[in-house]
Parts: sequence; C-alpha cells; structure tokens
Amino acid sequence: MAELKVLISRQDVAKRVAELGEQITKDFAGQSVIFVGVLKGAAIFLADLARQVQLDSTFDFIGVSSYGNRPSPANELRSGWDSTGEVRLLKDVDQSIKEKNIILVEDILDTGLTMTYLKKMLLARQPRSLKVAALLDKPSRRKLPLEGDYVGFKIPDEFVVGYGLDYAEKYRNLPDICVVPRE
Ligand code: 5GP
Repeated sequence: MAELKVLISRQDVAKRVAELGEQITKDFAGQSVIFVGVLKGAAIFLADLARQVQLDSTFDFIGVSSYGNRPSPANELRSGWDSTGEVRLLKDVDQSIKEKNIILVEDILDTGLTMTYLKKMLLARQPRSLKVAALLDKPSRRKLPLEGDYVGFKIPDEFVVGYGLDYAEKYRNLPDICVVPRE
C-alpha cells in the first residue's frame, strides 16, 4: 500500500480536542453528562475529549454495523462506503438515558446515515439533551442533513486512518490522522 500522509498532526488534534472540551464544559456548566462512544473508532477521541471536560461525567458505548455488503477495504478506499442506511445495533448502552445529558461521540461524520439513525433511536428515550461530538466531518459526502454540535475538523473527501480510525482494523493506534492515498 502507498505511504500514509499526515493530514492532521497529533499536536493539532490535541489542541482542537482541548478547545472542544472547554466548549462542552461551558455549555453544561453545573450539570453532568454521559459520553456515549460509537465503537470502535471513537474510543480514542472519547478518552481524550472526556479528560478535557471539567464536569461530572460517565462513559457508555454503543456498537453498530450497517446492513448491506461492506466492500473490500480496497474498494472502500476507492469509492467510500455507501451503506444502505439501515443500521443494526450490535451493542446498546448499559443504562437508561431518560432525562440525562448525552454526548454521542463519533470518529467521523460521512454520509450521516449512522448518526441520523442513532440520534433518532436515542431521542425516542427522552434524554434531557442529545449532542453530537465528531472529531472529523466530511460534509461533501452527506446524504442526510446532519450537523455535528462539536466538530473537530472539516476535511475533504479522503479516506483517513489513525487516532481510532481503521483500514481493515489496522492503524487505529496511529497518533496522527493520516490519508490513505487512493491509487
Ligand atoms: P456514515 O453513516 O456517516 O456514512 O458513516 C460513518 C462511519 O463510516 C464512520 O464511523 C467510520 O466508521 C466510517 N468512515 C467514513 N469515512 C471514513 C474514513 O475516511 N476513514 C475511516 N477509517 N472510516 C470512515
């Protein structure tokens, strides 16, 4: 595979995550929040973001997969992954979220299908508030109108890995966010 190119350095990620944490701390002053991470890509972002938030908080995780045939990694890289929009819940949160402040933490907003599904499902449980924190956003790929509330970086339509994001389950542990060149 061609060499990875750094798109966003670990220093820039850390700086931006600190800013997002400060914003969340201000927005929820005097309240508590539950960070709900979308497995597995959001695990590293959640860990760093939560440590930049000075509020009472707890963690939870949710697992999803899309119906339809996920292409091979090489094809996913070439043309992105256009799921059918039907999302299957693999792991639900462990607690009731009624009347709680929920911050859904996602690695990247792409077509918006996954987040739209998750927001609808969780809003039906009547949380006090529901916000979306996403490290990355590829607005040009959107199929459903969805805006993140706390977005780290808007990026062009490139396939990225690192800082939790994978290519065939690899590269999640890279400290920088890197582009996998489309050959
Ligand atoms: P959406 O439902 O918004 O299309 O899907 C978002 C999911 O697609 C992300 O959580 C992530 O798993 C995957 N995804 C989208 N773009 C990328 C990318 O550039 N790199 C990686 N590694 N995964 C991506």
